[in-house]
Parts: sequence; structure tokens; C-alpha cells
Amino acid sequence: MREEDEMHKVFDQLEKRAPKQLEVLMSLISKGQENWVATNQLKNLSTNAIKALITKGILEQQDVEVSRFKSHESDLSSFVLSALQEKALEEIKNSFSEGKNALLHGITSSGKTLVYMELIKASLALKKQVLYLLPEIALTSQLVERLKAFFGDQLMVSHSKFSTNERLEVYFKCLQGEPLLVVGTRSSLFLPLTELDLIIVDEEHESSYKQFDPAPRFHARDSALYLARLMQIPVLLGSATPSIETYFNAKNGKLTLIEMLERHDGSSLPSIELINMLEQRRQKRNKGIFSDVLLSEMQHVKSDGKQSILFQNKKGYVPVIECTQCGWTPKCINCDISLTYYKFQNNLRCHYCAYSRPPVDQCPACGHNGLELIGYGTERIEDELSIYAENLKTDRLDYNNTRRKTAHKKIIDAFSKGELDVLIGTQMISKGLDFDKVKLVGVINADHLLNFPDFRANERSFQLMTQVAGRAGRRKEQGKVYIQSGRPEHPVLQWVKSSDYQQLYSNELAEREAFSYPPFKRLIKLTYKHKDALALHKAVQTIRQELHMVFGDRILGPEKPYVSKIRNWYLMNFLLKMDNENSAIRKDKAQLQMSIDKLERDRQYKGLRWTIDVDPI
Ligand code: ADP
Ligand code: ZN
Ligand code: ZN
Repeated sequence: MREEDEMHKVFDQLEKRAPKQLEVLMSLISKGQENWVATNQLKNLSTNAIKALITKGILEQQDVEVSRFKSHESDLSSFVLSALQEKALEEIKNSFSEGKNALLHGITSSGKTLVYMELIKASLALKKQVLYLLPEIALTSQLVERLKAFFGDQLMVSHSKFSTNERLEVYFKCLQGEPLLVVGTRSSLFLPLTELDLIIVDEEHESSYKQFDPAPRFHARDSALYLARLMQIPVLLGSATPSIETYFNAKNGKLTLIEMLERHDGSSLPSIELINMLEQRRQKRNKGIFSDVLLSEMQHVKSDGKQSILFQNKKGYVPVIECTQCGWTPKCINCDISLTYYKFQNNLRCHYCAYSRPPVDQCPACGHNGLELIGYGTERIEDELSIYAENLKTDRLDYNNTRRKTAHKKIIDAFSKGELDVLIGTQMISKGLDFDKVKLVGVINADHLLNFPDFRANERSFQLMTQVAGRAGRRKEQGKVYIQSGRPEHPVLQWVKSSDYQQLYSNELAEREAFSYPPFKRLIKLTYKHKDALALHKAVQTIRQELHMVFGDRILGPEKPYVSKIRNWYLMNFLLKMDNENSAIRKDKAQLQMSIDKLERDRQYKGLRWTIDVDPI
């Protein structure tokens, strides 16, 4: 029977035997957009009739996850700005009226969001649109809820994970020029915001603003600045730990520097203690990966009815497994990287491609039975914590793609409600979370961050640790942070300890100048790839000659990247350093394009691919 015929039959039957139910059904049909209605729209209808319709199988009751966030938090419905916030707001407005963009450098919990909200309010009052960029939405449901409580239906969230219908709705509202606050990630820059009045780039230092793969490769912060110039509207960048480039621009007057260097309620920043793990081990005070102080403080915090956060930037159980006899380690068959062991799923997985395999008990190279687990991922930390502190209730927050999308929100909610004592996470937990009861933050291993082979390692480490530390003691009571490291004397750790952004900045700036890196120079990364290692090797030698002829020693490479094979493509990088000056950059880009084209025409390099990344991060 066709659907329509079936419907008619149902209507006929109801009309004869249950007119009340027919009435309810008709009213529901008029309300439902896509064959469903929300229960809160059923208020005026007879519950008995609805129940009867459900029993008959005409209606179906379903629990659905509502993607637009609930607006139960309304503590900010009538906030008053602190004097410092008020001052910052005035300075921002002055800067905008002079046609200048601004950087709001406000320490964690200084209340930057409230300053943004005032600016948004002013734009909406003029029936204009505001774009509020965030590095990540999944983790910021807290923030979105706060904004939703305040701006109600004028707030739209733009997210690539939304259904086509939801995205179309946002798209058309933007296009029609409705007064809107659009909160979104980098892709929302492409919405047709016809009445755009202001762009806010929150956490402007975040590297996830850069889209790298797939192309187009762009940085949302820089693109926002460009878009705003075209539209002649202002941009506000905000961060507790600005990127070196942005702070440099602020110091040089390209941006107005506005500072909020106190927390909104005058509470102190957390006290930060560095723990020497070498000493801990020498004195046998540690238990596994944990120092004695960190373990005992977690217990104190729990008995005070407070919570802890542990940070470790590695997911899975262990990042490396090694044979104690011959040094063999399981590697990905498609990528040049060791496989991470996941205990719960009981497999070994590659973080660069989808490859996974069962774990090994015995070394396939030498037959030895002793395989050693090297390093700690969040999963192992949770496991060990349950041995040394079995009374603590824990959960993990990390990019584990086997978990469902909503799992993050559930964990964050559970932690907010105090159902957990300890939240263990990767850098996900550094991003904008605002919990009342977090007293303690532990950084399990700072050395991983500091040792990362990249010219931004110091900057990144400082940013990450400062942001994570900022999760502690956000309400009156001072929080405590323990950073475990084998090198507590490392200058970056000292600056984190004393919250000394200025020291980080001046030291980094001197280094960048000495070694010709941004912001003094601009960079282009040119990556060549080939499925055949030898062919790639030959090709890059020729390319090297060509590029050297044109650019001299301003071109570095070819150099093997940290992961030199991904998904069966072998990789080699060149790095071009350019003077930070528009005409020089234009000339370099044109010349680079010519060299690339020339090589591409050469038939012997068939199978060779290349990608270009301007301002790589
Ligand atoms: P930041 O983004 O600078 O780290 P937030 O804007 O998230 O800080 O503010 C931190 C917390 O302080 C939030 O819970 C916010 O509601 C609260 N807050 C900030 N300013 C005020 C204010 N003027 N009055 C009341 N609460 C405030
Ligand atoms: Zn072996
Ligand atoms: Zn792989």
C-alpha cells in the first residue's frame, strides 16, 4: 500500500472512532517540519490522545540529541562589567573608531567573553551581524550555552558536522542580512554575512585555525583580518597567550594592544610548582609516572570536595612498544611512524592513516618475548591512576575517533556536575573549559612538549601549559598546578611558573630574528611526494639545484619531515624564507611558481606531487 493510501485509511478510522485523536494528529502534522515535533510543542494537546496514537503505532516517541544547545544557564543575563573589563571595552571601541583592529590580551579567567558580549550586543542593536570564531566547537558547548542564554535565537552555530538542513538555515539567515551572532569554526568565514559588522577571533593563537589538509590551506585568523579589510569592518583578536606574530604586530602598532592582566574577580592565578622527576626517581618517591606530591594532592583535593585535571598530550595507551632484545618496534605499513597501543580496543593504531592491527606478544624480528611499553598515553595514565589511587573516579577526554561525537559533551557534563574526581586529557582540555570546582592541574610530562622538533616548540609549550594551568581555581580560591619534568630549570618552564609572557616573547623574538623566522621573515613550505622513495630522492636533488639557483641560501632543504612517509607517500620538504615585505613576497611567489611549473613539465618526474603551504605552522 502506498503511504498516502495508508494515511487515508488511518484518518478514516480515527474520524469514525476517535475524533479527539484525529484532532491531535492534524495539529501535530501542522507543527512538524520534518515528520516530527518536539515534546515541548505538545503542551496544549491531550496527553491521552497522544498516548493512544503512540500505542496504535501512528506516532512514535523518540529521544533525540538536540544539536542546538540547551539554554539553562542564565547566570550572565544581567552581568556587570568589572572596572578593568569596562576599560578594555572603551579602548577597543576607541581603536575601532580609529579604524584599527585590536588584540585583547587577557589572562585566563580575566573575563574576555563578557567584553566580547558587550561588543556583540552593540552590533546586534544596530541590526548588524557578528562572526565569533572559535578554534573548535565540540569542546565549547559551555561557552555556546552561555552565549545562547544571553542572545537567544539571534545566535546561530555554524558547524561542518551539522546536517545540510541546519547549514542551509544558517546560510540563508546570513544571506538575508538578519541581525545575527554566528559562532563558528574556520569554515564559517565563508558564510555570506551580508551585514557583517565585526569579527571576533577568540584564542587567536590556536593552531587549529589553520586548515592544512585538504586545501585550501588558510589560516582563519589571517583570513579574517583580510576579509575585514575588504569589508571595512573591525576585527578583535583575543588570547591569554597571543601568538608571537600577533603580539609583534600589536607592539608595532599594527594592532591596538589592550590588556586585562587580572582575573575578573581579582582572584590570583594558580600557584605553579615544578617537580623534578629525575630526582623523584632517584629518591624512589614516584609511583609510576606520578610524583608523590601530585598523588597526595589529588587526594587532598578530593577530600575537600574539589576536582583535578591531568594533562598529557598523548592519546592511547603507549605511543611505542619496543623489543628489549633487538629494539624492534611495530610500525605502520603505510606511514613511517610507530603504532600506538590502545588497550581498551586491544589493537595497535596509526595516527596518520586508518591502519590498525592486533597487538603482538612476541617480537617478529628475533622471537624474543619481552616487549616493553614505552611512554604514557592518557589511557595508561588512567590505568595507573586506578592502581595508585583506586578511590578516584576518573574519565578521559581525548581525540579518540572510536568514540561517538556526543561522548565529549557527556564527559564534560559529568565532570561539571562533580560526578568525577579527575579528568585526564590531551590538549583538548586546555581549550576554554570553565569548571567551578577544579582546584588542581597536573602536567604529567612537560618534556614531550619542549622537545618537539619545531621552531615554535617554546611558544606552543608555553601556550599549552599556561592554558591548562588556567583551568585551575577559576572561582576565588587559588588553584594549584604541578608540572612534572626532567628539566625543571628549562627557561620556558620558569616563565610558565611566573606567568611571564613578556619573557617568553622577548626571548622568542630574539631567537626568531637570529635564525630568520617569522615574524621577521615569511615562510613557504614546499612539499614533494612520491610513492617511490628512490624516484623522490632523485627528483628532489634536481629540484634543489633549480631552487638554489633562483633563491640561493634562502631555500632550505630538501629535508625529511618528522614523519617522512604518510599513506604510502614519501615526503621531502623545502623551506623558502622571504623578506617580510609585500613586493618581495610577490616576486618570490612568482619565481617559485615558475620553478615548480618548469619541473612539472619535465616528463621524467611523472608520479611526483607537490603541495605548497604559505605561512606554515
Ligand atoms: P576568559 O575567557 O578570559 O578566560 P571568561 O570570559 O570565560 O574568561 O570568564 C571566566 C568566568 O568569569 C566566567 O565564568 C564568567 O562568567 C565569569 N565572569 C567574568 N567576568 C564577570 C563579571 N564581570 N561578572 C560576573 N562574572 C564574570
Ligand atoms: Zn626482537
Ligand atoms: Zn599509517
